[in-house]
Amino acid sequence: MCTLPPMNTTRYGEPCPLCRTPLLLDVLQVRSARSAFLTAERVTLRRCPGCQTVRSEQWTEVMRSHYGDC
Ligand SMILES: [Zn+2]
Repeated sequence: MCTLPPMNTTRYGEPCPLCRTPLLLDVLQVRSARSAFLTAERVTLRRCPGCQTVRSEQWTEVMRSHYGDC
């Protein structure tokens, strides 16, 4: 009932399946207004700037097989 607006943040995640560089994760964070504790966290997007430009088709394939396409 008392939650702050969700906040978008970016951080590094697991290594890229293609090049082993840490992925950039777009994360949506929900905090409780009273405690400021993190109550929910959801990865909205995974990015690898290198692979996305150099081998975008392969990248799309890998993301689909690893994380599903919904
Ligand atoms: Zn990569």
